Amino acid sequence: MESGEEMISPGLRRRYLRESESVLVPTRAAPFRSLSSLQRAQRACTRCEQAGFIPHAHPVLSGHAGQRVLLVGQAPGPVEQDQSRPFAGRAGRQLMRWLIRAGFRDEGDVRERIYMTAMTTCFPGRRPDGAGDRRPSAAEVALCAPWLDGVLALLRPQVIIPIGSLALERFLPSRRLDDVIGPAYTSNGIPISGRPEAAPVLVPLPHPSGQSRWLNDPARLALLDRALGTLREMVAWADPDG
Ligand code: SF4
Repeated sequence: MESGEEMISPGLRRRYLRESESVLVPTRAAPFRSLSSLQRAQRACTRCEQAGFIPHAHPVLSGHAGQRVLLVGQAPGPVEQDQSRPFAGRAGRQLMRWLIRAGFRDEGDVRERIYMTAMTTCFPGRRPDGAGDRRPSAAEVALCAPWLDGVLALLRPQVIIPIGSLALERFLPSRRLDDVIGPAYTSNGIPISGRPEAAPVLVPLPHPSGQSRWLNDPARLALLDRALGTLREMVAWADPDG
């Protein structure tokens, strides 16, 4: 059984469809019958290479149908590209430490239970000044958006974790990290207090990269602590058998 449609229980599906008017989750039929067929096509994608944005396309993503948590980062880095595995480098190790604080047993548990993708799934290259990885352009994000739309439609995640400001712009547009890190949100951006009534819920996190200066402020570390506590509660709600 490989289709996300087939893996989800009728109860969860009804709960999810209550939010089907959301602008964040595409309601049109996915062009692929299953996540595995979408992944095969995505891994063969060369749109950004053909458009001249990157020298070589090498899409990096991981996951399978039935996972209830979707994590959306900015873009893979060189280590992720080499290993064909999301969050495999230093930022990934920091992310794993955060997720263990949020209740996951270990990295294996994280990778087994979370579908991992990004706003653009190919390494965008280094910045011209050499200070870190290049932030993907709006044009690259637009080229890659149909893949993310397809994952949302087929996986129907219960919890979505946008990581960093680029993913935040997609899921909670026009909000600043400082203003959103801590609580969970409905897919329409309304803060949730108590038990969620509908899926998906959003739990944004800052980017774990050492390049991010956001985490240098102790007050922000307190926001991160709160967000990881929120994530623990939302994952327990979405995946009680996890
Ligand atoms: S970033 Fe996305 S759209 Fe661009 S080549 Fe890679 S998979 Fe295709």
